[in-house]
Amino acid sequence: MMPAPFHGGVHPYEGKHLSRGSELTAPPAPAHVILPLRQHIGQPCIPCVKVGDTVQLGQRIADNEGLSAPIHASVSGTVLAIETRRHPVFGEMDAIVIANDYRDTPCAHIQPPTEPAALTPQQLLAAIRRAGIVGMGGAAFPTDAKLRSGMGRVDTLIANGCECEPYLTADETLLRRRCGEVLAGLCLLQRVLQPKTTVLAIEDNKPDAIAAVQSTLEQFPQVQLQVLPTRYPQGSEKQLIQSVTHREVPPGKLPGDVGCTVVNVATCHAAYRAVYEGRPLTERIVTVSGDAVAQPKNLLVPIGTPIGELIKACGGLRDNAWKVIAGGPMMGIAQRDLDAPVIKSTGAIVCLSRAHEAAAGTACIRCGRCVRACPVHLQPLYLYRFACAADYAALWRQHLTDCIECGCCSYICPAKLPLTEQFRSAKHALKEAKL
Ligand code: SF4
Ligand code: SF4
Repeated sequence: MMPAPFHGGVHPYEGKHLSRGSELTAPPAPAHVILPLRQHIGQPCIPCVKVGDTVQLGQRIADNEGLSAPIHASVSGTVLAIETRRHPVFGEMDAIVIANDYRDTPCAHIQPPTEPAALTPQQLLAAIRRAGIVGMGGAAFPTDAKLRSGMGRVDTLIANGCECEPYLTADETLLRRRCGEVLAGLCLLQRVLQPKTTVLAIEDNKPDAIAAVQSTLEQFPQVQLQVLPTRYPQGSEKQLIQSVTHREVPPGKLPGDVGCTVVNVATCHAAYRAVYEGRPLTERIVTVSGDAVAQPKNLLVPIGTPIGELIKACGGLRDNAWKVIAGGPMMGIAQRDLDAPVIKSTGAIVCLSRAHEAAAGTACIRCGRCVRACPVHLQPLYLYRFACAADYAALWRQHLTDCIECGCCSYICPAKLPLTEQFRSAKHALKEAKL
């Protein structure tokens, strides 16, 4: 099927060449890791260790019931503290801090199943839940719950390898280096959902990753490769579904409502490791890039490593550094404190120089560019006016809640208005006011 272009979108500067050629590097292990109790959508975890306990690599240290995912020690060592720490997304959050003993003593409970190929869908879901796997592309939705909700009603499974945010090359690196494991992980999810069609989608600006998939696909005849034109936000769930299947997810509905499930390629890889190696999610690839870091790289790091350690491993910040962002420049969160750790959904740390500092916004000139760029058919110029006036009833009528905070409107606005920032705050206020 030919790709069906989604409405709107933009073509920002890509900057992927900065980190693309670099080898995958494991930097020196951190002296301590900080594991926030909230690394996923749903219930935050409750610690099942206490200060002073000795923990092993991969040991379950926090968990909860319902919509949640357990958290595991990403180094072996001693629990130093359970206290409020900086969080890369939520400002502050309770976290378990582990002092690294640098031995990486593996948890005795980590055993791969003897016959992974014989596991039933329910056993696969249990293995994914046990490993603490969540959406690693940024959404951080517990993967077992996502798959469970798609069982019996999904006909298309899409592995998302688009990585459309500027500068990011973590998923691309994973596909280049561990393509067979990603595809084997995808086939495990396929065994759970039993869709008619399984697609791995990649944007056409990643020729090496595409070549790696093409040369591995013959071992996985049940998976189709779909190469999509590069356009931000191609990797956003609803836009990707439209591109691949020509189906539009209606406002307020979920991918499952149109028969689709989308999973990030890193999540597929985590499922592979959980099922074939018995390993919980304790590490991930993070792109450290941007024009304000000395040596952009892709790093394989324990979850919980402070962001500052990653930057140090890349030669430090340049003198003209202006902003450090967890995630990409379009949707990521600017960091106030480099002690905030990498969490399960952190795919990148982007360091930007003062050259990116936006001039102060002027008045809207009603050019309509934001309307043309919005992939969900909103009218950002009016939303902005209502958000500034805190007119929540009007924001509700104008469907602010459908905004995916993609940043296209802010990027394209010639008046440099902080549209997305304003929408993020207004959405939060709407939620608080339960309107
Ligand atoms: S892009 Fe900016 S200036 Fe143009 S209409 Fe939208 S808000 Fe106004
Ligand atoms: S941030 Fe929201 S309003 Fe702006 S383009 Fe994206 S979806 Fe549309």
